[in-house]
Amino acid sequence: MKRSFVLLPLLVLWGWSLSGQQERRTAREELDKAFDTYREKSITQRQFTHADIEPLIRKREGNGLFEVSKLGASVEGRAIYQLQSGGGKTKVMLWSQMHGNESTATMALFDIFNFLEGRNDGFDDLRNALNEHLTLYFIPMLNPDGAERFRRRNSYDFDLNRDAVRAAAPESVILGEARSRVLPEFGFNLHDQNIYYNVSGTATPATISVLAPAYNREREINAVRKKAMQVIVAMDELLQLYIPGGVGKYDDTFEPRAFGDNFQKWGTSTILIESGGYPDDPEKQYIRKLNFAVILHALESIASGAYEKYDTDDYFRIPDNDSKLTDLLIRNVDVIGRNGEHFKTDINIRSGEERPRITDLGDLSVFYGYKELDASGYTWMPGKVYEKTFQSVRDINPEEAMSLLKKGYAAIRVKNTEGREKTNLPLLVLEEKGNLSEGLYIGRPGYFFLAREGKPVYAITDGEIVKL
Ligand SMILES: [Zn+2]
Repeated sequence: MKRSFVLLPLLVLWGWSLSGQQERRTAREELDKAFDTYREKSITQRQFTHADIEPLIRKREGNGLFEVSKLGASVEGRAIYQLQSGGGKTKVMLWSQMHGNESTATMALFDIFNFLEGRNDGFDDLRNALNEHLTLYFIPMLNPDGAERFRRRNSYDFDLNRDAVRAAAPESVILGEARSRVLPEFGFNLHDQNIYYNVSGTATPATISVLAPAYNREREINAVRKKAMQVIVAMDELLQLYIPGGVGKYDDTFEPRAFGDNFQKWGTSTILIESGGYPDDPEKQYIRKLNFAVILHALESIASGAYEKYDTDDYFRIPDNDSKLTDLLIRNVDVIGRNGEHFKTDINIRSGEERPRITDLGDLSVFYGYKELDASGYTWMPGKVYEKTFQSVRDINPEEAMSLLKKGYAAIRVKNTEGREKTNLPLLVLEEKGNLSEGLYIGRPGYFFLAREGKPVYAITDGEIVKL
């Protein structure tokens, strides 16, 4: 049912009934402007803690827009808050970061709080529509203990997303009780997935993945799940303007212990958003903006009822997620084996937390890399360790390191290894007695050369391809 509160300019701005590429593009430009204005400037990278966000929540107590309440505390005693806004009939609950290292949507929620507090910027019609038709319940950072260590699990080492039914952890109790108290019609379950998810059959990262979780093993579609699917189609339409072909649909196998599946089962139309990877966005700041835009768009669509025009068939047309990406993929390398035999391999490198490592070898033709190189005609060369030992990484500058690289050195040794993880030297930094093995195997640091006629032509170093 379409409601009549909407003014014509807003229709054009958000591009529904009059829709068409042009209007949707306008919507995107307006959202981009809003993001620039309202981005929470105290959060600039994806690793932050409860102490960083608590003042941003507390300062909103009694500000007239948000009703802030403490829902309870984590295992280690960190307060978990709910921010409620609007006075509309349709209740929508949004919770983020039940996995402590999945912070992208948390950043976007604070941007949205700032946005909701704005005025006289051309968005007042939208704000009024949201306030009038929706009551929003935000629960940012459901797992602050995990966030403290930037890891997935809570302080019991539980995956909270497998604790929806047993509810043994206080964080799970908080979310479950919030749901039974509010009985939201819609729910947004906000997560991050690893950056190696791609859109099935393509090299495009699944920068955003979506799911209307199943509520039973048969994966049936009832009225509750159908509405979640319709909202997702509306979201996909906007996202295609930002990341054409970059939206994947998550696997809908029923997980009886997960929150999304149970919210759906308990009668809340639940939408899962998973923030994945995007090229050259390690801190996920662009993906944060996508979250800001798509969550606002979804809320608007719920407030106006516009989502109801969408077909569930279009939900199933969203391509599936796959997991075939790697950071660096080098194809068709010639390797000289132990007995002098030649063989061909592809080399898969992932950057990981500490340093890049080789994670797969063999025929990797079905995989894709954020960066790729066809090394046909080049031979694998392990690289030497520089003979002189440095006191620390501060005793060698990037220019000197580059000249060692050009001479076929892939690694140096230092007496004091402090700070070696943070160096931007194009060399592997080993400890005093460390060595770089000659062999090519899974787990080996991803630092080596590709040679032609015995001379290094490319250095593979620190996750980059360097032409020498
Ligand atoms: Zn997650």
